[in-house]
Amino acid sequence: SLPLLQQARSHAVRNPHKVAIIDKTKNEEFTYSQLLIDVSALACTIRKLLPSGHSAAEEPRVSFLVPPGYDYVLVQWAIWAAGAVCVPMCTTHPVKELLYTISDSDPSLIILHPTYYKLKASLQAQGSQIPVLSLNPAHPKSPCAHLPRFTHSLPLSRRALMIYTSGTTSRPKGCVTTHQNITAQVQSLIEAWKYSSSDHLIHVLPLHHVHGIINGLTATLYSGGTVEMYPKFDPKIVWDRWSEQSSTMFMAVPTVYSRLIDYFDSNIRATDAEPAARAGANFLRLLVSGSAALPLPIKRKFKEITGQDLVERYGMTEIGMGLSCGLEPEKRIDGSVGWPLPGVQVRLVEPDSGRVLDGVDEDGMIEIKGGNVFREYWRMPEVTVKQFSLDGWFQTGDIAKRDATGAYFIQGRASVDVIKSGGYKISALEVEQKLLGLPMISEAVVVGVEDEEWGQRVAAIIKQKPNTSLLELKQMRTILKEEMAPYKIPSILKVVDFIERNAMGKVNKKEILSKYF
Ligand code: ATP
Ligand code: MG
Repeated sequence: SLPLLQQARSHAVRNPHKVAIIDKTKNEEFTYSQLLIDVSALACTIRKLLPSGHSAAEEPRVSFLVPPGYDYVLVQWAIWAAGAVCVPMCTTHPVKELLYTISDSDPSLIILHPTYYKLKASLQAQGSQIPVLSLNPAHPKSPCAHLPRFTHSLPLSRRALMIYTSGTTSRPKGCVTTHQNITAQVQSLIEAWKYSSSDHLIHVLPLHHVHGIINGLTATLYSGGTVEMYPKFDPKIVWDRWSEQSSTMFMAVPTVYSRLIDYFDSNIRATDAEPAARAGANFLRLLVSGSAALPLPIKRKFKEITGQDLVERYGMTEIGMGLSCGLEPEKRIDGSVGWPLPGVQVRLVEPDSGRVLDGVDEDGMIEIKGGNVFREYWRMPEVTVKQFSLDGWFQTGDIAKRDATGAYFIQGRASVDVIKSGGYKISALEVEQKLLGLPMISEAVVVGVEDEEWGQRVAAIIKQKPNTSLLELKQMRTILKEEMAPYKIPSILKVVDFIERNAMGKVNKKEILSKYF
């Protein structure tokens, strides 16, 4: 049987009243017992809608579009209990993107929350033959039912989850992980971050990425804690909830922390609410940042306000989490994503030769091995093979270096963040960090622009802070001369009003390049 369902069952047996999910859209609480009973019922419905025979290579997929909340967990677990592969879709994607995910994953069934009737209409208009199950959002509770056992007389699928990568560097790829992969990812995090049944997570992340699904939802429920789920992030609500001092964990992307800081500065600082907000945030036992590089000014400012040193970690859809700073204060190093997580092997190699690097401060490509590493890109066997070295290491495409303690520092993606200019290799992330340190800059994206003379030139796209005077190229270069080598300083500057980011707060540098250069 599935480890996750077994775990949940033992939490329910130990404490029938233990709350698993607090759904902030329905404003209702759901126990582990309730969740398992509902999962069992929905799994039966799903099974009846799935084809009866299938090959091992093509286990049935079920795509679903359900906003974050109890229904999301119910549907995800029921798909697993029914022996199918879960394909979560992004609730903020336009219909066109959703149709791409559906045609690529080629599901046997689609489960929709009734709010997404537009997608249903588009599928019908296309003449889609895929059965659609509409969720009834007001499930009647069935408190008297027995706890189901999930002994799996049903064949369990090996593949568990198919998550589409963010599409930062190319078309989103369906990244398939098995139940074993998920268990390995979750157990590694639980060992490192010490989740327990006393944990209470405020969950504001989208649920079509590992950050929200694995680190947030699954690891907390595996541990018997409570997940309080919000349909979307709202800084006011988070500050209010922290002030009540009843939650223990928070996980987010850097842009969320940045919005929390802005909200504090404009609405809480110097008001009566300030002491409670600061103390409330300080009360949490763990705050994690990841999915994109955490700008140092955000880390420092957040610490100034809350006393909390954010734990930065590094991961990707294909591996779950690979590296993380530690819980101990001395293991939260500015600019570093920390050390390999338990059970995860990490090495740096020279990208061209594949030679393994052992030295300090040498740039190399991160390679990962372990039970956490995904199984395949969906229906892309050649791409899957290409991403692994001959001796079975997954090649992440990210460049990093290590210090003497073995702590890793991400330099960015080999494809877009390593700028080659006049014989030098420049980390775009490092230049971005420096730019963000300037008082007039609120957001910065650094890219390499093709150039006949230099190979590439360093270009900065920035958004200015409100009420600062316009930054000019010459002025920026003068200030930055104090901070870094001249060849790293941007020689092209574009000031823009808005920098487009996806649901995870990430910038697509290829799009930026084609838009501005
Ligand atoms: P695609 O693979 O489709 O181009 P993507 O790589 O952005 O999209 P994800 O799997 O969501 O999709 O993101 C993983 C990537 O995010 C990593 O490879 C890395 O480049 C970046 N990343 C994650 N955490 C960090 C971090 N703490 N610091 C810097 N970069 C990070
Ligand atoms: Mg990627």
